[in-house]
Order: sequence, then structure tokens, then C-alpha cells
Amino acid sequence: MVHNITLIPGDGIGPEVTDAAVKVLEASGADIEFERVKAGEAAIKEYGTPLPDEVLQSIKKNKVALKGPVTTPIGYGFRSVNVSIRQALNLYANVRPAESFEGVKSRYENVNLVIIRENTEGLYSGIERLKDQNTAESIRIITRKASERIVRFSFEYAIREGRKKVTAVHKANILKVSCGLFLESARNIAKNYSQIKFEDCLVDNMAMQLVKNPELYDVIVTTNLFGDILSDLCAGLVGGLGMVPSANIGDDIAVFEPVHGSAPKYAGLNKVNPTAMILSSVLMLKHIGEKDVAMKIRSALRQVLREGKTVTYDLGGKASTTEMANEIIKKIEES
Ligand code: NAD
Repeated sequence: MVHNITLIPGDGIGPEVTDAAVKVLEASGADIEFERVKAGEAAIKEYGTPLPDEVLQSIKKNKVALKGPVTTPIGYGFRSVNVSIRQALNLYANVRPAESFEGVKSRYENVNLVIIRENTEGLYSGIERLKDQNTAESIRIITRKASERIVRFSFEYAIREGRKKVTAVHKANILKVSCGLFLESARNIAKNYSQIKFEDCLVDNMAMQLVKNPELYDVIVTTNLFGDILSDLCAGLVGGLGMVPSANIGDDIAVFEPVHGSAPKYAGLNKVNPTAMILSSVLMLKHIGEKDVAMKIRSALRQVLREGKTVTYDLGGKASTTEMANEIIKKIEES
């Protein structure tokens, strides 16, 4: 069965890593027809907006998208395309697995955890204003409905993926009302899942624990900003941002993208690591029921990382993005 999927190459290093992932998908025999749409800087030139309507229309029609990173200007200017897509399509769960791979040098060899980040509210609700020239205000929205939904999603994910523990991360000692509501919601939902261990942890302590003892954690569920920061920390535990994929999941739509951004200083150099984008397409293949093809790509990637001969600069190698992708394709063809 052919799968129709929206493809958003993005900008900066997006088109390079997307190209690499698409070539790997083609070599794997995945039966996919991509519908390419522009978002980010490429779209501003053509449509005057970084997020033309046709992007959301295409994702709504196909239900699944593979997306490269998109630049968000700092300070004033266009609102983040990434946040807008997640909110417009109600992609409430951002799933970010961080896993150690043999051959990838990092502080630990045994990290295998998943951060599940609430994706639609919190401090990323986009409600900000200058009250006067010297006072800025951001509003943090936390609802019982979204908190219960993300915690329920995390327990269901844990059961589906054979995981054993869910840790809810918050700052309810200081943000007593908003994080208090998140924690109360988490505790309520946890009562329905006695087969999975549940604990909670303050976000500052969590940051320290993750650096010291990451092997103690399994599924971590948290609010939007904390999840954004902790997942970059976890990327650092497994070899860097070039290694970590993500999925944005809603009730019937899913968008897969690397955790990393558009890394503008590397754009066009054919230099960055395509792994995060390739692993994002592996998550996508699992989501559309193509588990065998997903495993084939994963095991080819695993081999290339283990050998460490044709890997990019961030992994201590000299290969270009294209050369690393070609090596993965070679392993797929040999399998
Ligand atoms: P970034 O993730 O783009 O890059 C930070 C650093 O991480 C890079 O300088 C590089 O050293 C390393 N890195 C990132 N991806 C890599 C890869 N594939 N291989 C090797 N090294 C890699 O973060 P940033 O510089 O803070 O953000 C740049 C832009 O990207 C900003 O406009 C930001 O808003 C945007 N962004 C977009 C997304 C998204 O599209 N989902 C996510 C994060 C950031």
C-alpha cells in the first residue's frame, strides 16, 4: 500500500538532512509518495509567510508529515512555524527518545529514555506582551485537560513500548498553581496504571539526575518549556543534537522531525549529521505500520555508527552528510 506523506524540507540544514533521509527511505523500499511543501525562509520568499496555508492543508489531508528544521527569528518577527504547526494541528504529544548507540562517543553508554513533552500550551502559548517599555509579561497556560491527556499518553506509550516507569517533571514547589495542577493531574491519571511505576521530580533536580544517573530514567513526562530544555540535555548525553529524533503526535495526525534546529552556520556545507532526520523517518515508518522497513534502516544506521568510519564531524569522522547517507544505503543493499 502506498503511503502519501507530506514532506517539508525546511531551511538552513533542513534540505540537506531531508535529502539524505529521503534517499535512505527510497533505498529501503518503503512505499511512500511524498508531497513536497515549503515552510520557513523558502516560503517567505514565495508566499510572504513562513507557513503558507497549503502546508497545513497537505498535512491535514495526508495525516503524516516528515519535516526538516525551520528557522525562527529571535525576538520580533514571524511566530515560530514549529510551534504554529503543533498548535494548529493539535499535536499535543512531543515524543523525544534519547538512546545510546554503540560507536558514538558520549559520557554514557546505557541511556535509553524518552521525553514526552506537552506540546500545545505552557509557556509556549504565545501570550506575551510588553506591559510598558520596561516590563515584559509571558503567560503560562496549564490546563487539567491537556495535563491529563499528556500523562495518559505517556502511560499508554510506556505500556505499548514495554517500558517500566513514568516520571512526571514539574516545579510545583514554586509554580504552585500551574505546576501544582500539572502534578495533581499526573497523580490522578497514574492511579489507573498500577502496572507502571510512577514518580515525580522537580525539574532542577531532574536536570542534575539526568547528568549523573540517566540510566535510572525510562519515560519522562513534562510541560512544554521544561521538555524542550531537558530533551536537548538528553541529546547531549547520547552524542549531540545530530542524534535525536522526535514525533509530534495528535489524535489522528503526526509530524516527525529531528530535535535539532536549522543550524544556519552549517547550511549548504553538506557537513551535518543526518542521523536525527533518518531516525525521525524510522519513527514515522513505525507509526504507519512499516515496522520491517523501519528495522532495516535502523540496523543499517546502527552498523555505520558502530564501525565509525563513514560518520560526520560531530561523531569524530570526516564524512559529509551525503557520504554518511550513502554508507547507510550500502548497508541496506547488503542486508
Ligand atoms: P540548532 O539545533 O540548529 O543548532 C545548535 C548546534 O547543534 C549547531 O550549531 C551544531 O553545532 C549542532 N547541530 C545541530 N544539528 C546538528 C546536526 N544534524 N549534525 C551535527 N550538529 C548539529 O539550534 P540553534 O542554533 O539554537 O537554532 C537555529 C535555528 O533553528 C533557530 O532559528 C531555532 O529557532 C530553530 N529551531 C528549529 C527547530 C525545529 O524546526 N523543530 C528546533 C530547534 C531550533
